[in-house]
Amino acid sequence: MSSPTDADPDPLKIQRKLLRQHLGLGPNPGDPPANSPPQSQPLFFIEMAPDSRRGAKCKLPTCDENIMPGELRLAMNPAMGYGRWHRSSADLYHIHCFEELVDFTQADFLDRIQPLTRQTWKLRGLNAGSVLDGNYLVPGAVERLVLEWKVTHGKWIDKRDGVYDESGDGEHVHADFFALLRKAGSSEYKQPTKAATGLPGNEYYNLLVTLAPYESDGPGDTEEWNLFDTYLDSTVKALDNPHDLSTMLQHWYDDVALISKEEDELDEQGGAAKAILGEKAIRALKRLSAIPMPQSSYRE
Ligand SMILES: [Zn+2]
Repeated sequence: MSSPTDADPDPLKIQRKLLRQHLGLGPNPGDPPANSPPQSQPLFFIEMAPDSRRGAKCKLPTCDENIMPGELRLAMNPAMGYGRWHRSSADLYHIHCFEELVDFTQADFLDRIQPLTRQTWKLRGLNAGSVLDGNYLVPGAVERLVLEWKVTHGKWIDKRDGVYDESGDGEHVHADFFALLRKAGSSEYKQPTKAATGLPGNEYYNLLVTLAPYESDGPGDTEEWNLFDTYLDSTVKALDNPHDLSTMLQHWYDDVALISKEEDELDEQGGAAKAILGEKAIRALKRLSAIPMPQSSYRE
C-alpha cells in the first residue's frame, strides 16, 4: 500500500518546490533557506516572444500550448538545472502559467520581475544583435505597467507586513523624477528641465513623451486618459488575485489587437468595443506601442 503522499505526485507541487530551491529558498514556505545561495540570482523577465516557426514550449508541466511569436511571456533566467556558464538559458512560460508556480504577494518572487527593455536586456544574457533586430523587448505600455504593478504590489505587501514607510514615495525618489513618472502627458503637468531630473537626454525624452502615462487633448481636457487607471488594479484587492499580472497584460494585449484592425476587419461586437475605447485611447495605445531601443553605443 502506498501512502497518500506517494499517491499524490502533483506535478505543480513538485515544480513549486524545485523553483523555490532554484531561487535559494527552502522547498516550502517557512522552511529555512538553502545552505549556499545560488551562484546567480534568477530573474523573471517579461518579454515579447521572438520570431520562430512554431513558438516555444511552455515549461509548466500541465500546459500543452506553445507560446507564439508576438505574445508576452515570462523567461526565468538562468533556467533551472543550469550553472552560471549558461547565462542565456531560460525557462519559458505563459505568464498565467508561471502564476501557478509563484506567489507574487511575497517579495522573494515579486522583486525578481523585470520587463525586458533597453535597460535590462543585458541581465538576460541575450546577444545585442537579436535585441537590436527588434526581438524580445517589450512595448512602452508593458514596461510602464509592469514596473508600476511591481511598485503598487510592493506597497500593499509592505502595508500588510507592517513595514510600509508612511513618509511616502516622494521621500525616496526625487520629486521631479517622481512627477515625470506619474504625470507626464497631462496638460496640467509642468515639465521639469532635464537637469532637474538627473536623467540622460534620451531617457528624459522617453519618459516625457514616448512612455508618458497620460494622453490629453490639451488644456481644459477633463477626461484625460491614463495608462495605469485603465489597466492596473491599484487597490489592495489586487493581492487576492494570483493572476493579477497576466490579467492586466492580457487586457492591454486585447485592446492593442482591437485597435490594430480596420473597421471592415471587425465584427459588430469588435466594432462596438473599438468605438467604446475612443479616439484618445487609440492614440495613446499607438504611442505606447513604441519600443524604446538601446542606444547604438551598445552595439557589439
Ligand atoms: Zn503555459
